[in-house]
Amino acid sequence: MLEWREREATLLAPWAMHAAESAGRVHPESMHPHRSPYQRDRDRIVHAAAFRRLAHKTQVFTGYHGDYHRSRLTHTLEVTSIARTMARGLALNEDLVETLAMGHDIGHPPLGHAGEDTLDALLCDEGGFSHNAQALRIMELLENRYPEFPGLNLSREVLAAQMTRCEKSKQHGRLLEAQVVDAADSIAYDTHDADDAIELGLVKLEDLLELPIVKSAAERVRGRFGDLGADQLRRAVLHDLVNVQVVELIERTQRHLHEQTIGSTADVLATSTLVTHSAEMTAGKRELESFLFQRVYRSPAVMAVREPAQERLSQLFFWLVEHPDAMPARFLVRARHHGVRRTVADYIAGMTDRFLELEHARRCG
Ligand code: MG
Repeated sequence: MLEWREREATLLAPWAMHAAESAGRVHPESMHPHRSPYQRDRDRIVHAAAFRRLAHKTQVFTGYHGDYHRSRLTHTLEVTSIARTMARGLALNEDLVETLAMGHDIGHPPLGHAGEDTLDALLCDEGGFSHNAQALRIMELLENRYPEFPGLNLSREVLAAQMTRCEKSKQHGRLLEAQVVDAADSIAYDTHDADDAIELGLVKLEDLLELPIVKSAAERVRGRFGDLGADQLRRAVLHDLVNVQVVELIERTQRHLHEQTIGSTADVLATSTLVTHSAEMTAGKRELESFLFQRVYRSPAVMAVREPAQERLSQLFFWLVEHPDAMPARFLVRARHHGVRRTVADYIAGMTDRFLELEHARRCG
């Protein structure tokens, strides 16, 4: 059986991040006999409380809308699945890709972006709140599992990748493993939010078919399967949309790697983003995203639930700031170093949507 170093040396491309080249962890640890450092990172995220709570956190649709649509957890699994396909196609480090994909949304508070916007406004004098920065805080500080260190003590490459997610405009200094996860995130939410929105009756497939990117997917599907019923057509079109984006990214990235003679991770880090869509696909995705923004994320049905839920989050925040003793003891200890408002935000951000509602009813009801 291959040892992990040999396995990576055999299977990974020179532009992949090899775990043997890792800069290690902030708190040094001995090597595991059977798991590579990035496998351990992945496992630490899967076993984290913040990861489990993603099952009961909203992606887009706050409140109860049935059980069809995605939660943060199922979104995370879809991102991981798409990112692994690209990683394998490009001979990247799949363990690292999986770690980054599994961890990419662990910083999301309850209520999705509605919760994020509310916490950001509440913390405007304390540096604000973002789910990307919160994920880093969970990884480095908040997760509470190991006696030897706070947080998860993940490899420095994982922390660096999460750090660059906080700097949106960053064009350089990102490993291909991180670029692939960002691309997979965008592919996943564009398509599954469209799917969920149709299922919830917020939009119709016919409306989506007016967008060029969706229309050409439907033409390919009809060419392959002929006329399909509405549900089958919708699923086939969305599968095609995912697939066409993934294939384009793999092929374009292979070409970029060749044309720019990328032969190491140092080359990757010195180059601007290599995992990019064509201009046509980028324009198509933008149209789809602005359609989703107007017709779904800002639809009256979503907004009607969103605003009262944000109000409840704010009320609970102010109540806890006045009564910090109501938080678990470890939060009280942290409040001495990080301030009460930041600590209350950490506590609320860790809540699932339903726990937030229960706590609100108990404390402010
Ligand atoms: Mg995401």
